[in-house]
Parts: sequence; structure tokens; C-alpha cells
Amino acid sequence: MASIFRTIADLWSLVVGLAITGKEFCRPGVTVHYPRAEVTPESAASFRGPIELIGLDKEPAKPRCIACMLCVSACPSGCIAVTRAPAPKPTPEELKAIAEAEARGEKPKRPAPPKAPGTWTYDFSLCSLCGSCVEVCPVDSIGFSNDIYMVGTKREDFVFDQLARLARKAAARKAEPKPAAKPAPSAAPEAAPAPAASPSETGAATPASEA
Ligand code: SF4
Ligand code: SF4
Repeated sequence: MASIFRTIADLWSLVVGLAITGKEFCRPGVTVHYPRAEVTPESAASFRGPIELIGLDKEPAKPRCIACMLCVSACPSGCIAVTRAPAPKPTPEELKAIAEAEARGEKPKRPAPPKAPGTWTYDFSLCSLCGSCVEVCPVDSIGFSNDIYMVGTKREDFVFDQLARLARKAAARKAEPKPAAKPAPSAAPEAAPAPAASPSETGAATPASEA
């Protein structure tokens, strides 16, 4: 008796498996038969490619990065290198004020370096795409790119200057043709359809059956 129940249970699991297979078989495919088919931006939207910097909303060519170095510490593969931007040079007036303050024995305040990176380098050949840097960034300045077409003949081809890459992408996006503006809705409301003219107005004869 026990063997009959076991057989039924086994058959049921087979039916469930076949049902799942049949359901997935009927769904439209999500993969692209590259290179026979083109990979469209829509189909590449979920692709996790090499990481890239995300620009400021108002200045897309400048990264959101504040050079906190958290991504450098979090990366298990050591493929990120960031340096802070240098402090701006003091103006002649500021230099004079600093010199006077120092002559008085004070400690003058020098211009502080901006919270921005001076260099941001990424070695894609070492990256495991683990996403730790994306998660740890406090200002959401790192994301996965959709760059699928990448070729190189040597390892150095995959070491990216991310600041330059961001600037190139921002310039390319700016140069893209803008979508055509939608036609403005007409100010005057659409005229209501005129009531159908009576046969007497049109001069048309009423069919004998309707008379
Ligand atoms: S995705 Fe992972 S391995 Fe790649 S740069 Fe970020 S932290 Fe490093
Ligand atoms: S990208 Fe983010 S985590 Fe990395 S240094 Fe810049 S602000 Fe910090």
C-alpha cells in the first residue's frame, strides 16, 4: 500500500514539474539571439555591466561622488582608486591675508579642498560585479552600466578613467536628438457635431417604407 502512495506522489511531482515547464515554454523569451538579433536598449536595461559614476542632476558631467573612499575600502578586488580633488589656490588677496595673520602669530584658515574626486579609476578586468561599491556609496554615485559592447586587446583597455567616461556619456546624451514635442492642445474646444439635417432640409426623399 505504501508503495502505491509513493508512486502517486512521484507521479504528482512529475505533473507539477511538467506544468511549470509548459508554463515557461509558452512565455515570450527574454534572451536575444545575438549576433543574429540586435540587442536593443530595452533588452539591455537589466544588464549589469561595468560600474559607472552617476552625475549630478543639474550637471550630469560632474559626479555625485564626495570622495569619501568608502567604495575603495568596500571593494574586495581592489579595483577602485580614488583621489581627492586638490584645494583651490588662494587668491592674491587671500595669500596676503594669510601672510598677515601668520605674522601676527595666528593660524589662518586656508581654502578647504572640495568634496569631490580628483581622479577616479576603475579596473574592470579585476571586478567581480559584486555590487558592494554600489551598496556602500552614501550618495548613490555608483551604478551598473548597460555597456554590453566592449572589446579590448590588452588588459589596460579595461582600466577606465571614470570621470572622463562620465563626461563622455553626458556629452553624448546631450547631443542626442530630443524627442519631438507633443502638439499643444487647441485652445478652443472641439466643435460639437452638427445635428443631422432633416430630409426636408436636405431635399432627400424619405423612403416609402419610412413615410
Ligand atoms: S562591483 Fe564589487 S568588485 Fe566590482 S568594483 Fe564594485 S566592489 Fe569592486
Ligand atoms: S563613489 Fe561614493 S563611496 Fe566612492 S568615494 Fe565617491 S562618494 Fe564615496
